[in-house]
Amino acid sequence: MASDKKEALKKYFGYDSFREHQAEIIDTVMRGNDCFVLMPTGGGKSICFQIPAILKEGLTVVISPLIALMKDQVEALTGNGVPAAFLNSTLSASEQDQIIRRAQTGDLKLLYIAPERLFSGNTFELLKEWNVSFFAIDESHCISSWGHDFRPEYRLLSSLKIRFPQVPVIALTATADRVTRRDILKQLKIEGAQTFLTSFDRPNLSLSVLPGRKRLQQIQDFINKRQNQSGIIYCLSRKSTESVAGSLKNAGLKAEYYHAGLPADKRSKVQEAFLRDDLQIIVATIAFGMGIDKSNVRWVIHYNLPSNVESFYQEIGRAGRDGLPSDTVLFYSYMDIMTRQDMINNSDQSSEQKELLHAKLNRMKQYAETDICRRRVLLNYFNDSFDRDCGNCDVCKNPRSRFDATVLAQKALSGIARTDQKVAMGMLVDILRGSKNRNVLQHGYERLPTFGVGSELKGEEWTEYIGQLLNSGAMDIAYDEAHSFKLNAVSRQILKGERKVELVKFIPLNERKAREEELAPREKPKKEIIRDALFDRLRTLRKQLADSLGVPPYVVFSDATISEMAQQKPVSEMQMKSISGVGAEKFRRYGETFINEILDFARENFKPGTRAVAGMTFIETLNLFKSGSSIQSIAEQRGLSTTTVISHLIKLEEEGHELDLESLVDEQTYQTIIKAAEEIQVRKNDPLKPLFELLNEKFDYGQIRLALAILEKKGGFF
Ligand code: ADP
Ligand code: ZN
Repeated sequence: MASDKKEALKKYFGYDSFREHQAEIIDTVMRGNDCFVLMPTGGGKSICFQIPAILKEGLTVVISPLIALMKDQVEALTGNGVPAAFLNSTLSASEQDQIIRRAQTGDLKLLYIAPERLFSGNTFELLKEWNVSFFAIDESHCISSWGHDFRPEYRLLSSLKIRFPQVPVIALTATADRVTRRDILKQLKIEGAQTFLTSFDRPNLSLSVLPGRKRLQQIQDFINKRQNQSGIIYCLSRKSTESVAGSLKNAGLKAEYYHAGLPADKRSKVQEAFLRDDLQIIVATIAFGMGIDKSNVRWVIHYNLPSNVESFYQEIGRAGRDGLPSDTVLFYSYMDIMTRQDMINNSDQSSEQKELLHAKLNRMKQYAETDICRRRVLLNYFNDSFDRDCGNCDVCKNPRSRFDATVLAQKALSGIARTDQKVAMGMLVDILRGSKNRNVLQHGYERLPTFGVGSELKGEEWTEYIGQLLNSGAMDIAYDEAHSFKLNAVSRQILKGERKVELVKFIPLNERKAREEELAPREKPKKEIIRDALFDRLRTLRKQLADSLGVPPYVVFSDATISEMAQQKPVSEMQMKSISGVGAEKFRRYGETFINEILDFARENFKPGTRAVAGMTFIETLNLFKSGSSIQSIAEQRGLSTTTVISHLIKLEEEGHELDLESLVDEQTYQTIIKAAEEIQVRKNDPLKPLFELLNEKFDYGQIRLALAILEKKGGFF
């Protein structure tokens, strides 16, 4: 195994540097101190305990609540050459015995266990025998009833410190809130733990809010611009997941729905297909996602407004875990707020609890309606100081134009006043626009002075503006009176002309070009098109390998890794290992296969002699040489001089390829050249001309170089 953390990072994970706090956390665990880690989803928590587990003596026990996640993590570790296993109820008794034996013999570095398994049978007695280096408690917020995902079985972990007072604990979570945080430490009895709080910012996630009109059409446009990119659409109800998935399927897209009402086998089938890139789109309720480790989710859409910012952040956090640019879109309309408020009011919560839920919903609404950088709103919610504009949200990219809407507001408010505050959205819009439909006529509203005063605006414009007025507090709404609008103090000020109103300009969908372009990938330069074509090739290869091994594609290589390959086009071992995510084990397993794919691609797409692929020309020489061609024949086949071919072989040998250079020059030639070189004391990198002349031009430069290279390899004089 590796001896230090940096070396382990490269060898087992293929990464060159640590992210924020990772190195300090690893040091803390190595010193044997308890520690608590708060990091957003995708921040890189796993490495914080996996590297100490590799470096420390003994076995690290990882407590994890989710069976699917355990399996993924163990697969990923094994794929990186780290001996790991899991124990849970999905395994047969004999499989469990086998793993216990491996732990006993010290063959394992990490063992993942579900909390209930830890407390059943004789596990504790076993652990005492096993020399446990430390406990890692993943998703540790599950221990607190204040968290959003309390699991009673996690409470059992409270006795861990009592039973194993000497064994350090590292607790990890992505849940931010302060109360939960304190409770975790208290429950685990690690109040003295060193705490690491990482910024919640995920700069690779773009943030956009789109008006909640014609959502399906907008979604289809969005997806059509993202072929082959995996994504999740979150809906409020089970029924809408089914109908949205149905419409997308009808439009020829690969979509399936997922919710808690589905039979377990159907759910795992859908999930599995998604993980394996066989299914592009999952339309789901919030039941989907917890424990989904898929790192190449490229976008997340919220079809409906989530109930609070924590859930929203967690859900969009499932995109772009590999760090590549990913998009998030929230659809928002005033009706979504109504629906959510109704849900809270009609729930059987205490009034105190309802108040809390309303307050949380309100913060979500503020995010949806903000005119300042959305990332600022989000991060400030988590008390993450972020005091600049991010440049990667729709507000930053496309500042809103506002206009004086005082007269418009007065029209709407007087419509409310004239109808005795009994009308809701639909009717108010009809009155303002002067629609003589049956409902309007029934109430005699066509005789009101306000009837038709707003006919210059379309229905959808009025709906949007009235929604904005409501959200900015220009009036109230009575949930218990069929959502009818009510005037308040602000409304009266506006009606009397004592208060000005500004609203954000409505943009019809078909004119939303600017915003759509911002969501759509730009027109690509040729270089990028080629890179993308190679990316597709490598992705297809990855998929084939993954299927044959029965693992999800990102377990082979992440999107970030193959994207870097497509960019750098590595064709030698050294180049390949310098790609982020290609560790020693990954290289051993897949390195050559990927190099060959890149070479095939390069041969098909580039004219010989171009420098599109650094090192490609060397590899061509190498392949011919390996297949038994002589230097002369390689030179002829490739249209190069023999000297060039020889210099290729020397370079390849220096790079670590096993080539028998000595077989290329006969002993007598070698001795003659070396003797002459000694005579005039040639040093490395000296010009070779004097030597060439001293030898009476009897040997060509290729032979001279070769002899010197062999000499150097033998530890010769220079
Ligand atoms: P979390 O558990 O915090 O959600 P993970 O541990 O799954 O996050 O890490 C998310 C992704 O980031 C993984 O693909 C992981 O391999 C990658 N990653 C972690 N640390 C680094 C690093 N130092 N350099 C590059 N990638 C990293
Ligand atoms: Zn921004």
